[in-house]
Amino acid sequence: MLHRPLFEPEHEMFRDSVRKWAEAEVVPHFEEWQKAGIVSREVWKSAGEQGFLAMYAEEEYGGLGMDDYRFDQILIEELTWREAGLFIPLHNRVVGPYFRKFANDEQKARFLPGIVDGSNILAIAITEPGTGSDVAGMRSRAEDRGDHWLLNGAKTYISNGILADTVIVAARTDPDNPYALGLFLVERDMPGFKRGRKLAKLGLHSQDTAELFFEDVKVPKENVLGDPAHGFKSMMVGLAEERLTGAVSYVARAERSFEITLEYVKDRNAFGRPIGAFQNTRFKMAEMRTQLDAAWVFVDHCTSLHLKGNLSAELAAQAKLMTSETEGRVVDECLQLHGGAGYMEEYEISRHYADARISRIYAGTSEIMKEIIGRSLGLDERGVK
Ligand SMILES: Cc1cc2nc3c(=O)[nH]c(=O)nc-3n(C[C@H](O)[C@H](O)[C@H](O)COP(=O)(O)OP(=O)(O)OC[C@H]3O[C@@H](n4cnc5c(N)ncnc54)[C@H](O)[C@@H]3O)c2cc1C
Repeated sequence: MLHRPLFEPEHEMFRDSVRKWAEAEVVPHFEEWQKAGIVSREVWKSAGEQGFLAMYAEEEYGGLGMDDYRFDQILIEELTWREAGLFIPLHNRVVGPYFRKFANDEQKARFLPGIVDGSNILAIAITEPGTGSDVAGMRSRAEDRGDHWLLNGAKTYISNGILADTVIVAARTDPDNPYALGLFLVERDMPGFKRGRKLAKLGLHSQDTAELFFEDVKVPKENVLGDPAHGFKSMMVGLAEERLTGAVSYVARAERSFEITLEYVKDRNAFGRPIGAFQNTRFKMAEMRTQLDAAWVFVDHCTSLHLKGNLSAELAAQAKLMTSETEGRVVDECLQLHGGAGYMEEYEISRHYADARISRIYAGTSEIMKEIIGRSLGLDERGVK
């Protein structure tokens, strides 16, 4: 793997402590969580005690006041392949930032301490049974009833859907304008908030992806995040970071797949020699090493731009597209080089193969990423600019 100048010695020390924690607190529970289809609340608490949650939160809310994306990048790199269903990256770098950027002081004081100590696990609910990519097709709605908003709707495929204590729910706030969306903070015990099935999936078995229902939920005005007519705008603000966060995890999983495959092709023999001695294997491994190094350079470049506040949503879309497609190719080739063993659950590569399949779909599909990148080139189905 390439030298990565992005990281300073303090980041490498942090990496060591994440590894130690993950080996002690995460890895031993892997089988149990995979079977249960959910991770424990204790591991979230433990991550909170370590200071791994919402590190950017100000000290007055229990955080470290440390806004350096590289620490989160390291958490993602070390956690993704050890336990892909523990969605701390979603909590820290997809949902958490909404509180940081759009919550008022009262909301920050109410929510951030739990977000930091692991007692308030976060989710975000945008996708609905009838619409995913087309956010403007959303049907969930909230009506202004004076001192509260009345929320109705159904959401699906919601990550952390069962464990979540607070869900940011997107809903239409003006029946005549599909772009008028509000973001509502729905808390665990609010009457009318119901959780549906924990969904059985191809991969990410320990991730509690779920359906959520909202039936006449009275959301107090204090639980509206930002302007209830401009939730769309708020959702746009975090897109670059969300895509980068995905991209880091995709390369990390592909890198791990490469490493275990390199070991495997050195050990496994066929026709009197290690399968790594076949030219086909060497060439495949060489291609993958090259693709992975290119992906790391791209991701690290995006991180360095992000550290300066200069990562655009379009470049992050390129990173998401490139890394998820690379990941898909790498896990597939790696499984192939394992032969029949690769198809067996007892070989780690089989789960990376299954877990990786979602990367090209969630947080915006590859096709949607291409639309975004294409439009940034001035190419649009309505014409060219
Ligand atoms: C495991 C998992 C976790 C998830 N977590 C969350 C979560 O926490 N919160 C949340 O809100 N959502 C979540 N999602 C939903 C996810 O973001 C959506 O599934 C995704 O955005 C795609 O939407 P869709 O499933 O409705 O597919 P569709 O939008 O129906 O797309 C179907 C196909 O049509 C293509 N397509 C659609 N529009 C276009 C177009 N304009 N041009 C070309 N092709 C197009 C798509 O690329 C895709 O190939 C999760 C999904 C999964 C599976």
